[in-house]
Amino acid sequence: MIKHSQFGTLANGQIVDEYTLTNQQGVEVDIISLGAILKSWKLPTKNGEKDIVLGFDTLDEYLADQSYIGATVGRYANRIAQGQFSLNGIQYQVDVNQAGNCLHGGKQGFHSYVWQAEVISEDKNPSVAFTITSIDGDQGFPGKIQVKVIYTLTEENTLRLEYFAKSDQDTLFNPTNHSYFNLAGHDSGSVAEHQVLLAASHYTPTDDNGIPTGEIAPVKNSPFDLSQMTAFKEPLSSAHPQIKNANGIDKNWCLDNFNPIQKDANYAGTAVSSASGVEMQIHTSMPGIQIYTANHFADMKGKNGAIYQAYESVCFESQFYADSPNQANFPSTTLKANDDFYSVTEYKVSF
Ligand code: BGC
Repeated sequence: MIKHSQFGTLANGQIVDEYTLTNQQGVEVDIISLGAILKSWKLPTKNGEKDIVLGFDTLDEYLADQSYIGATVGRYANRIAQGQFSLNGIQYQVDVNQAGNCLHGGKQGFHSYVWQAEVISEDKNPSVAFTITSIDGDQGFPGKIQVKVIYTLTEENTLRLEYFAKSDQDTLFNPTNHSYFNLAGHDSGSVAEHQVLLAASHYTPTDDNGIPTGEIAPVKNSPFDLSQMTAFKEPLSSAHPQIKNANGIDKNWCLDNFNPIQKDANYAGTAVSSASGVEMQIHTSMPGIQIYTANHFADMKGKNGAIYQAYESVCFESQFYADSPNQANFPSTTLKANDDFYSVTEYKVSF
């Protein structure tokens, strides 16, 4: 079932819509057309209803947000060093909006667009598509690009996010979703006791500004080894310089099951809260995943009176590695003119 309502109105009169998708298991997700943002994801658990993503009550709070809460991010998730790259021998300068680098597509990235929504399926596996057109030169990126994100809530309690894009010139493309999860409920405090497992034997170390050094480092014998179920408190309390330099976890893992040829959703990892009994499995066609433990949060006012602090939520951002255009050994993020981009990421919950 899909319920459609108005979430708010921008200063220019544009309406921001809200779509509530409910499956036959009573699971409910809310998406707003600003930023194609996932605003809530409610599960009817045996311990009561749990809303497992952070969010805000009002449009003004979403407009003021600097943390991309729940947002669709593009054209380029995470960082491009100094906002510079060369493509086909041409040097580009894109918007630098964080410590001299381009973060999440620049200041007016996809998170700031009002997306055009279209309901695809209402009854079983409710599904809504969100589309935008980003013009040639938007935030400095080449090519006019049409982008579509389809959210589907399946009857098996998977939230499937599919990304489609086509550009009229060669460009870069690396979309993600920036939801902050807390599997015990958005207002339930630290995620230190959440357990996590990742099918990733390597990660990409960074400098102090989150720019990859270019190394693809083994996770073995480091706090980044999540090949067995591990409580977040272990890496979070580590004195490893790659944890210290980000003030917590903020790194890209290289997914072992990535296959550059096919576009299936491959197993990436699992997170569990034993406090709520909620487990989430992640599958993706993307080569990497950024885990970010909300390291910079402090007294952020969230939905229903919640106050969000650092380490009380965690992002699992499927992506190409940060700064790939400047690292020849990373999978390429070039999207050729008129090629069809497709990627899929699935978050499947059981409770
Ligand atoms: C980045 C963090 C950044 C955060 C912004 C994450 O994807 O890796 O470095 O602070 O997004 O909200």
